[in-house]
Amino acid sequence: MSGQGRRGKSGVLFDLGPIDGGQFAGVVLNRPLDQVLTYRIPAQLVGKISPGQRVRVPLGRGNQSTVAYCVSLEDGPPEGFDPARIKDILEPIDAAPLIDGPILELTRWIARYYLCSWGQALDAVVPAGVKKAAGTALRTFLIVPEEVRNASLLPDLPPKQAEVLRTLLRATEPLTLNDVCRLAHCGPGPVASLRQSGLIHTVKQRMPRAAPGESLFADEFTVGGSRPKLTPEQVEALQGMAPALDAEGPAFQPFLLHGVTGSGKTEVYLSAIERVVARGREAIVLVPEISLTPQTIRRFRRRFDRVAVLHSHLSDSERHRHWQAIAAGEIEVVVGARSAVFAPARRLGLIVIDEEHEGTFKQETVPRYHARDVAVKRAQQLGIPVILGSATPSLETWRNAAAGRYTRISLESRVGGRPMPHVELIDLRHEKPVPGQPSLGLSGPLVRAMEKALADGGQVMLLLNRRGFHTFIICPSCGATLKCTACDVALTFHKARNQAVCHTCDAEFRPPDACAACGNSRLHYGGIGTERLEREVKSAFPDRIIRRMDSDTMRAPGSHEKVLAAFKAGQVEILLGTQMIAKGLDFPDVTLVGVINADTALHLPDFRASERTFQLVAQVAGRTGRGNRPGRVLVQTFCPEDPAIRHAAHHDYLSFVNEELPRREACALPPFGRVARLIVRGPEPEAARNYLNLVADALRKEASPEVRLMGPAEAPIAKIRDLHRFHLQIRASSPAPLHDAIRAVLPQFPVPGELELAIDIDPISVL
Ligand code: ADP
Ligand code: ZN
Repeated sequence: MSGQGRRGKSGVLFDLGPIDGGQFAGVVLNRPLDQVLTYRIPAQLVGKISPGQRVRVPLGRGNQSTVAYCVSLEDGPPEGFDPARIKDILEPIDAAPLIDGPILELTRWIARYYLCSWGQALDAVVPAGVKKAAGTALRTFLIVPEEVRNASLLPDLPPKQAEVLRTLLRATEPLTLNDVCRLAHCGPGPVASLRQSGLIHTVKQRMPRAAPGESLFADEFTVGGSRPKLTPEQVEALQGMAPALDAEGPAFQPFLLHGVTGSGKTEVYLSAIERVVARGREAIVLVPEISLTPQTIRRFRRRFDRVAVLHSHLSDSERHRHWQAIAAGEIEVVVGARSAVFAPARRLGLIVIDEEHEGTFKQETVPRYHARDVAVKRAQQLGIPVILGSATPSLETWRNAAAGRYTRISLESRVGGRPMPHVELIDLRHEKPVPGQPSLGLSGPLVRAMEKALADGGQVMLLLNRRGFHTFIICPSCGATLKCTACDVALTFHKARNQAVCHTCDAEFRPPDACAACGNSRLHYGGIGTERLEREVKSAFPDRIIRRMDSDTMRAPGSHEKVLAAFKAGQVEILLGTQMIAKGLDFPDVTLVGVINADTALHLPDFRASERTFQLVAQVAGRTGRGNRPGRVLVQTFCPEDPAIRHAAHHDYLSFVNEELPRREACALPPFGRVARLIVRGPEPEAARNYLNLVADALRKEASPEVRLMGPAEAPIAKIRDLHRFHLQIRASSPAPLHDAIRAVLPQFPVPGELELAIDIDPISVL
């Protein structure tokens, strides 16, 4: 298949070039059906259907009209097929392919690697707005056919008709009936007469509804912002990447840019992108959704003319417009969250993944892909470099670098010789609550540090990774905790709403007057969430301006940006919140960061619990000391000896990995082994358990001996939305035996109607 399609004339996505023959098409469906189906292309549609385009096909005995993606064209039916039994394609849905050859290949890789169907992978790649052609309208244009256009002599016509014809012949762009009547100062009559005599024709075309020429780009951002002189470390980093960035031929090379917080990684990305843009190539920058702040976006818009930002608040038609602009080669840099890895750039020269360790790059619905790994695959297919940047790289990436698969480049010091902030651990076991007061979020040392930082004119950030007021409601008499009726999850009390809320399914319950189990009427409310912390901070610092940032206070679109802007401008003195405040922010006046409870993620039954804790503490500590004043970090914990917390306190990534890697290796866990997780959900626990037992028995018999099973067992969260959950972990040293085992066994056990099966390759969450 030709990968280098030309740009469609109407600006519509991909034209894969002339395709010879092709009376048969292979199509795939957006269903868990892993098969390419063959259809005949009826004579009148030959040449109008190509791979990457959607078509309608008759399916099954009832010939139900079904949407499918064309993935290949063939001159004959597959071997052994009776041509007489092959059905005809009904019609094309898109005028041109939605995706090009390389992305079609990428989706095939995704389907094979993540064990979903090709159609499911394809459907996830094309945004809904593009599929609906949102923001466009089908419009009718008048055209003059070639033979009339080329005729040396035009027939004698009544003056109005002659004027219409002249107008159309002069036109440099397609004109509608309205346009023509306006320009030729006539009514529709003369146009109709011309159509009748065959001197003009009509054609229908999809056109953007927005006024042509309207800019995609906010003009508040001006290009040409100052370009700092790179530090020697940054120069060296860039030199290490230069051969791959400047290569004219294939130059696949993954780089791990490991730089401490504030070491100037973003500046390195910008310079690297400048090099590829200067050669007429494009770049994709993936960031966690939460980092898509105006601050980040501004940095890119200051340096590049044409930046498309793909965030989750775009409307369908905006997304469609961006996609079209990217596909048409009008964009230099695409900045976006996870799904931007599929941006249809045609001359891609570089992919950057910032904060590559972030779990949000993994999609938790089918296809369950990891955008970082897809980015590396896409770079490999295209023969281009890819940069994975982080202060706290995932152990998978670290190991890939250690094994020589990725090139490691480090930035070891902060820009401007700024010191790393000093981190102190506060051992909560020794912090006695003030007599007469319930145990609260702020320890004595933290309150004193806040007073001092604020008195010196600094700003304070407080991290607590739990929202709500009380994090549990328990009956002190029988010990029952209040749980969601649909999920196996303790409810969180939200005081402002006066509701007990399930953070898994969002159900809300009126707090009960008495324990449902034993009738005791004095329930105990315990634990502290951000809502309660806010109240405590307000009462300790009544004269300070305080803002809370969590998904409860940040519901309205734009509220996140508003608070950050106020904080940046110094109008907020204390910013407290969940991990929303931990990521990528750069505020020079923050001189104190407090971590209210470093242990929130530490004790989860998840093999990455330690890694997550290390990352969170190290990242939030990195938010301070970024300006001219040194920063200070106080970390409250019940486990000050825990390696994750101890090493994060010393900004000591190496010691952390050196301690954590052997533990993973001993259990053959990632990055040393691979995990696939099967999750079965169903209304009846027995049925779900039995199904998984059958699968596990077959896997034990049929999988290669190096494949090991953990489970089946009840999942740590045993019930969500009234569905009971069981899981099975399948482990091996490499992906192939996992894939083989699952592919061999699962088709023997069709999933019973009332159950749902999810296959998660390289799972990020194992709850
Ligand atoms: P990171 O992405 O590693 O956290 P940034 O790229 O955000 O680091 O840089 C941290 C701060 O230092 C930012 O304010 C940035 O503008 C500034 N900075 C980065 N590189 C330079 C440089 N070479 N000269 C001056 N300031 C720089
Ligand atoms: Zn629930």
